[in-house]
Amino acid sequence: AIEISGVGKWFGEYQALKDITLTVPFGEKLVICGPSGSGKSTLVRCIDRLESHDTGRIVVDGVELTNDAASIAQVRAEIGMVFQQFNLFPHLTVLENLTLGPIKARGLSRAEAEARAMHYLERVHIPEQADKKPGQLSGGQQQRVAIARSLCLEPKLMLFDEPTSALDPEMIAEVLDVILDLATEGMTMVVVTHEMGFARKAADRVVFMDKGEILESAPPEEFFTAPKTARCRKFLNQIL
Ligand code: ATP
Ligand code: MG
Repeated sequence: AIEISGVGKWFGEYQALKDITLTVPFGEKLVICGPSGSGKSTLVRCIDRLESHDTGRIVVDGVELTNDAASIAQVRAEIGMVFQQFNLFPHLTVLENLTLGPIKARGLSRAEAEARAMHYLERVHIPEQADKKPGQLSGGQQQRVAIARSLCLEPKLMLFDEPTSALDPEMIAEVLDVILDLATEGMTMVVVTHEMGFARKAADRVVFMDKGEILESAPPEEFFTAPKTARCRKFLNQIL
């Protein structure tokens, strides 16, 4: 589980997260939405310790995130993170992008790493792209490679930060379908997205953030039909 309690985060004088308390049990699919600047990225980045929180506690699968490098390494080993930008190495082939981490960080042999890479490329439906460079792929294909790269490290949970917002509309569905497949297979996931159709289909729970706070947390049926706050109603009216 991810257990976040009383977390605050400041950038200088600006408080980006205010007393965030949120537990994501293993197996849950959580969607986070909210206006630009509400702290969604900051929150998921704190879970992977790309940002450090200033107050409160974050515990991932029983390990509390502290300044201790060992705790950070232990938590990161369990988490796969996928961003809006794919961050693939442009000079390496797809296969090399996928085998790098497992060989360097997990000590797999090249043959083992390649077998695993091909397995996950099949899962994201692009095994035929293995020998291409990222620049030769569409945006949707590149994002699926980025997802496969995370899966190659066999994480216990996946964090997605607006995985489709850099994509052309016709490529959004192919990436969301891959994420939906993972959700169906029981992967624990936190997905920051404004794709509300995806939230309805995939989420066990939707969280709405505004100005660094969690204002709503409810299953999708309830979230979409009966938002409790005016700010959330306004947000939904704007995006639906
Ligand atoms: P978006 O939907 O645009 O991605 P978001 O909800 O992900 O927005 P965050 O990126 O978490 O929002 O930012 C929350 C607030 O913290 C914003 O006001 C942002 O300007 C500020 N912020 C984020 N990162 C930094 C940083 N490294 N330094 C200073 N301020 C930051
Ligand atoms: Mg963001």
